[in-house]
Amino acid sequence: MDLGIDPERLNACVQCGLCLTACPTYRVSADETMSPRGRIALMREVQDRGAPLTREVVRAFDTCVQCRACEPACPSGVQYGSLIEATKATLASRRGGWIRALAFAPLSRPRLLRAGSVLLGIAQRAHLVPRRLGLSARIPLWRAPLRASGDDVWMFTGCVMDAWQRDVHLATQRVLEAAGFGVRPTGAGAPCCGALHVHAGLHDRAVALARRTMDGLPGDAPIVVNSAGCGAALKEYGHLLGTDEARAFSARVVDVQEFLARHVDRLPTVEPLALRVAVQDPCHLRHVQRAHEPVRTVLRPFVRECVELDDEGLCCGAGGAYSVLEPGMAGQIRERKLSSIGRARPDVVASANPGCSMHLAAAGVAVRHPMEIVDEALRLSARAGR
Ligand code: SF4
Ligand code: SF4
Repeated sequence: MDLGIDPERLNACVQCGLCLTACPTYRVSADETMSPRGRIALMREVQDRGAPLTREVVRAFDTCVQCRACEPACPSGVQYGSLIEATKATLASRRGGWIRALAFAPLSRPRLLRAGSVLLGIAQRAHLVPRRLGLSARIPLWRAPLRASGDDVWMFTGCVMDAWQRDVHLATQRVLEAAGFGVRPTGAGAPCCGALHVHAGLHDRAVALARRTMDGLPGDAPIVVNSAGCGAALKEYGHLLGTDEARAFSARVVDVQEFLARHVDRLPTVEPLALRVAVQDPCHLRHVQRAHEPVRTVLRPFVRECVELDDEGLCCGAGGAYSVLEPGMAGQIRERKLSSIGRARPDVVASANPGCSMHLAAAGVAVRHPMEIVDEALRLSARAGR
C-alpha cells in the first residue's frame, strides 16, 4: 500500500538504532515497534512489501508523539517528520478524516472557538470537565484586548493559545515593546497555523490554512511567534506548500526568544526576580526549530538562577492533541519529565509552548511562559522606579 512517502527519504534509514534512546515512546515501552527505527521498518513493510495495516501497525504509528527528537539524533539525516506526516495523512484518509476535521473546525473560526472556550470555561468551573482532558489551568471567560502598537513585527496570536492564554500574548507584546519594537498582533487575519492539522494527517486542510495565513500576513516584517508548535509549523510552510512564496514566508518566521536574544541589549537592565527557573525545552523548539538556547539567553538577566533539567530535552508527552488522544502513553512519558523537574527543584518551570505548559500544569507543576517571567521582572522594576 502506498503511504505517500518519498522512497528516497524512506531508504535513508540504515536501521542503526542510534535514535532509540532519544525516542520517548521507546524509552517508556522498550518496544521496538514504538521506536523510530521500528516505525520506519513498518512503513517499509507496508509501502514496499504490501504488508497489511493491522491494528498493531496502526497503533505503532498512532503512538508516535511526533516530537522529532529522532531527527537530530540520526547520523544519516533521516527526515522522520516528513515520513510520519505522510503516514498519518494516509491513515486519516482511510479512517475518513472528517471526524477530526469536524473536531478541529473551530480552530480556524475565532468566534466559534471563543464561544466554545467560554462554554468550556463555565463547565470547568462547574467541575463538569473530565480530568483525563488535563485542563487544570482555568480557561478565561474574559480576555483583555490586544492592540497594535506599530508595524515593526507581527506577533502571531494563533487559535487555542489566543483563546486560552491571551495573558501570554499581552506579556510578549509588552516585552517586545520594552525592547523598542512596535507590535501588530495577527488576530483574525491569520487565525490558525494548521500545526494540529498536520499532526492529525489533515494535509489538505493544513495547506488551506497555510495559504490563508500567508495571505493574512503580507509585507516583509518578521513574524514573531511565542508558541513553539506554531513557530515550527509556520517555519515549515516552505516544505508543506513547496513554493518559493511559502519558503520566503517561512524565512520571516522567528521564535520570540530567538528574536529577542538578537536584541537582548535593547531590554532595560532590571533587578532579577528571586526565582530558580528550570527551562523545559518544547520538542518543536529544540528538535524542529533548534532554537532552544535563546530561551536561556533571554531569561538569565531577569531571574536569580536558570537551571537545566537532566533528561537531555526528552519530550514531556504533550504533543499537540496527543495527551488527549493517547493519555496513557502521554502520562508515562510525563512521569520521566516530572522526575527530572523534581531533581532540579525549581520555583517555577519556564515553557515556551502552550501544550507543554498545560500538560505539565495538569500534573501540578508551576509553569510559566518565559515571556511572562521577563515581563514580570520588567514591570516590578518599573513599579519600583529602577
Ligand atoms: S532513523 Fe537514523 S538513527 Fe534511527 S535507525 Fe534510522 S538511520 Fe539510524
Ligand atoms: S517523533 Fe518522537 S515519538 Fe515519534 S519516533 Fe521520533 S522520537 Fe519517537
